[in-house]
Order: sequence, then C-alpha cells, then structure tokens
Amino acid sequence: MTEHNFDLVILGAGSGGYAAALRASQLGMTVGLIEKSKVGGTCLHVGCIPTKALLHAAEVADAARDSAKFGVRATLDGIDVPAVIQYRESVVSSKHKGLQGLIKARGITTIEGEGRLTSPTTVQVGEHTITGKNVILATGSFPRTLPGLEIGGRVITSEQALQLDYVPNKVAILGGGVIGVEFASVWRSFGSEVTIIEGLPHLVPAEDESISKQFERAYRKRGIEFSLGVKFQSVTQSEQGVVVTLEDGKTIEADLLLVAVGRGPATAGLGFEEVGVEMDRGFVLTDERLRTNIPGVWAVGDIVPGLQLAHRGFQHGIFVAEEIAGLNPVVISDTNIPKVTYSEPEVASVGLSEKKAKEQYGDDAVKTYDYNLAGNGKSHILETAGSIKVIRVVDGPVVGVHMIGARVGELIGEAQLAVNWDAHPEDVAPLLHAHPTQHEALGEAFLALAGKPLHA
Ligand code: FAD
Repeated sequence: MTEHNFDLVILGAGSGGYAAALRASQLGMTVGLIEKSKVGGTCLHVGCIPTKALLHAAEVADAARDSAKFGVRATLDGIDVPAVIQYRESVVSSKHKGLQGLIKARGITTIEGEGRLTSPTTVQVGEHTITGKNVILATGSFPRTLPGLEIGGRVITSEQALQLDYVPNKVAILGGGVIGVEFASVWRSFGSEVTIIEGLPHLVPAEDESISKQFERAYRKRGIEFSLGVKFQSVTQSEQGVVVTLEDGKTIEADLLLVAVGRGPATAGLGFEEVGVEMDRGFVLTDERLRTNIPGVWAVGDIVPGLQLAHRGFQHGIFVAEEIAGLNPVVISDTNIPKVTYSEPEVASVGLSEKKAKEQYGDDAVKTYDYNLAGNGKSHILETAGSIKVIRVVDGPVVGVHMIGARVGELIGEAQLAVNWDAHPEDVAPLLHAHPTQHEALGEAFLALAGKPLHA
C-alpha cells in the first residue's frame, strides 16, 4: 500500500481532466492525473479526432467522384479501408504522443489504473491511495442504448463502428443527432446505402428548425434515407444482417445497426454516491462554478448535465483549475457554446434558435436575416449550397447564429465572438472580411441586420 499526496487529484484524463491538469500545473499545483485507459479520453481516441479523420477521407472520396465538374479527370477506384484506418490512427497516435509529452513536460504525475473515490480527498487506484486537497471528477461518458436493445454482433455503437475494417453495403442508424449523421455522411461517401431512424420530427433536432430542414434536403439529395418522427421497436439479427422494425410497422434491412442515441455519464460504481456526492440519473450535480455539494470535490465535462462537447470539457477543466487557484474565472454558460455537426454539409451554431429567441424576447423584439450562400463567391467556388441565419434582438445584440454548408464549422469562431460579446450587428458590420471567403457571408448578414445590406 503506497500513499501519494498532491494539491489536486483528477479522476479521468479526457478533455476535461487533462485540461484541468495542464492549467493547474501552470498555476503551480502538484497534480495526480488518474487514467484507466489512455490520456486524451473519448475525444482523442474514439470521438472527435478519429471521426474527423474519417470525414476528411470521405471528403477526398467525394472530391474524386465529383472531380469532372471541376475539369479534373480523376476516378474513385474504391476505398482501401485498412489504409484509411492507418491514416486515421497516425493522426490519433501523433496527437496522443504530443499530449503525453506535454503532460510529462509540465511535471504532472500520471497514475495508470481504475480509480475509485473513497473520501472527499482520496481516490484509491489498486493498492495506491492518492490524496489531494482538491479532487476533480472527470470520468466522461459511454454510448447509451435503448431499454431492451442490446449492443453486440451486428448492433454496434460508435466505438465498434470505428473498428470496422470494411465498408458496409447497407447501414441502419438509430439516432439522427450529431454522431448518427456524422457516420451516415462518412459511410454514404464511401458508397454505403444508409437509412437513419430518428424519433423526433427532424434530423439534427437540436438545431434551429430551418437549418434541420435544409440539412434533410441535402441528405435526401445525397441519397441518404431517413424515417423521422417514428420510434424504433425492435431488431433481429442473423448471419446475413439485421432487420429493424419501427413502431409504424416499417422494416429496414441492413448489414449493421449503429445505435447513436446519446451518451450517458460514466459514473456507476466509482464511489461517488457512497462519498455523498449529489447525483441525478448518473450525472454529477454541480453549481455554476462546477462545485459539487462536497467542498473540495469538483466535476467537469460529460458527467456534468448539459452539452457533451470536448471544448466544453476543456473549458470546464481550465475553469476549475483557475477557481481553485482563486483567479475567479468567468462562469461558462451552456447557451453560448459553439456547436458543429461535422458532415457533408456541415452545420454550425451558437446561441439561441429563432424559436427560443422569440420565446425569450417576444416575437416582435427579434429580427432574423437569412443569407443564402448562393450569393457568396467562395461558396460558389466550393459548389456548396446553404445559408447563414443571424438572429438579433431589435436595437440589441446578436443572440444566435445558425449555418449550413460545406466547411461552415470554420466560421463559427467569429459568430461565437459576436454572440458571447453581446455585439450589435452595427458593431460588427463595419469589420472587414477577406475576399473571397465564406466569412463574407456572415459579414453580409450582419450588414443586412444593421440596415445596410450590400449584395442582398
Ligand atoms: P472523456 O473524454 O470520456 O474522458 C474520460 C476519461 O476518464 C477517459 O479517458 C476514461 O478512460 C477515464 N476514466 C473513466 N473512469 C475512470 C476511472 N474510474 N479511473 C480512471 N480513469 C477513468 N465533441 C466535440 O466537441 N467535437 C466533436 O467533433 C466530437 N465528436 C465526437 C464523436 C464521437 C463519435 C463521440 C463518441 C464523441 C464526440 N465528441 C465530440 C464528444 C467528446 O468526445 C466528449 O464531449 C469529450 O470527450 C468529453 O470529455 P470528458 O473529459 O468529459 O470525458
């Protein structure tokens, strides 16, 4: 039995945990970072990074397939899945090595193994007792399934989907949210027939409705099928494939069923309840400063109710490290966190949807402007369709920006500055945008809402 003492102990080295460790070490704390698998967590190993590498390979496949319209004679001869995996893993492994190096260089002690909270200041990892003046819980999330729907065989989650060494001919995807549509996009570009089943009335249902509708049109055009507003009933598996039955009696045959119905908090059996941490359906409850009900015990990332996004986890981690150091950081609001759905086309948004803005401010107090990317030179060059919708309060700030089109995720940085800094369209409209870029489309929407439309 050995005992190790730190200023800060962090349970879980995903986006939230490792960001907290890096910032705390900068602020002079000794840090013990406990990880049962690999530093970097879900995002680096089975989430953001490997899926975006797949999407990039998918974009290259589409470019080859569509090359003739740009006057380039290229053909798509097929997808070499092992080579795609090699490319993807080389990206992940180089980021992993970089992170390991950074953690070491900062003097952070990593402790390998599964930790369990045994008191407000102690985590047990095998025979090691790790104590800290403060403890951050950062154990992340796992893929959920539906009651009665077992994962196994041809019924898979995103984690098994990343292990596949072949392109399935036909895939059914349960869930039309970010993860479901992301895999749909990759597989469709690689040549699969894809059907998405979504119980809510729209794909990407968390987005502004006008964007969801455009997204559905784009997916339909790509030949991706979907059943909306209908619930999954059952699935049967055989050696040949799966048959999915929906509540309306419709059946879908496919090689695989990907279950992408959200992620649950990975907190079971880790001692949190026994130590008295207040929980709700597995999530750890915190106040806005990410304090649990137990002094000195904090929680960050996907285990805290709200958006499950890597950049929220990073920011949570930085916030708690600064809070412990007494720097009084600014509280993170879930409302104004930028969100991107990575697919072809991309969707990006920040702030309130039109519906929520009208509920909050009243119908007449909200003004929107929808700029069609058809008017934007760079979008023409990229041959992308889509739009940018900006929502403002009359005589007030920009409260929401919603975009759809190729690569619009790269534009969300400017939009989130406007929303988070409560900028009025009049403040940002005079700022220049390089020409020709898709950023100009955002500038045009700001100009229009400031009463000075240029190309509109
Ligand atoms: P995690 O990253 O899950 O890290 C938790 C860590 O804790 C893990 O490493 C785990 O091994 C460790 N751990 C758990 N229990 C213990 C224990 N008892 N002892 C020791 N270690 C333990 N977000 C984005 O912002 N952009 C994206 O593009 C994006 N794409 C995604 C794609 C997919 C397919 C998935 C699944 C997720 C995606 N996400 C994306 C979400 C993102 O990955 C998560 O929001 C983020 O990883 C959450 O960080 P976290 O630190 O809370 O948890």
